Amino acid sequence: MELLEKKIQEEGIALPGNVLKVDSFLNHQIDPELSLAMGREFARLFREADIDRVLTVEASGIAIGVMAALELNVPLVFARKKKSVLINEPVYSHEVFSFTKKETSEIIVLQKYLPAGENVLIIDDFLANGEAALGMARIVEEAGSKVAGIGIAIEKAFQPGHQRIVDKGYHLETLASIASLVGGKITFTEK
Ligand code: 5GP
Repeated sequence: MELLEKKIQEEGIALPGNVLKVDSFLNHQIDPELSLAMGREFARLFREADIDRVLTVEASGIAIGVMAALELNVPLVFARKKKSVLINEPVYSHEVFSFTKKETSEIIVLQKYLPAGENVLIIDDFLANGEAALGMARIVEEAGSKVAGIGIAIEKAFQPGHQRIVDKGYHLETLASIASLVGGKITFTEK
């Protein structure tokens, strides 16, 4: 997606450790116009899949997830990362190792917000090792629904997540694909 690639080139910062910082429009401050454009693109890419629900994980997946859900006219559910006293009903949960925080945490969804027998679209901001996306996929399947697709805003194609998702047979779409962050230079994969 050209608009997203342009924004990444202009405002993204490649940090040591293969981390891309895009907190001026995706991870801290949010660009609503760009989020809407990304949501529209996800909706276009997955329109055929007859999506019933979008699932993402807090916090940065929510802005793009809600835009995709708006365009598809379905609800958005976001997995929570912290237990709270408000989560006092049956849940689905899965342990996920965080690429940026370097720690394992649980992602949690109330069972009532993931009814069985649906086509669920998983959305997230980044794809690195695939832990977050595959953790959500496990939860969707445990709920008795189908992973109708996985949509990622920015994938780092040099990390294993892409292949892990494709190997499991999921329909993966990414809006920007980064080939390298070496030496602070952001290079996209050839189309
Ligand atoms: P994975 O679970 O695929 O290993 O990593 C994806 C998750 O880690 C995303 O939900 C995102 O929050 C975070 N993440 C992974 N790589 C990056 C990165 O380069 N930049 C930012 N800002 N977040 C990342």
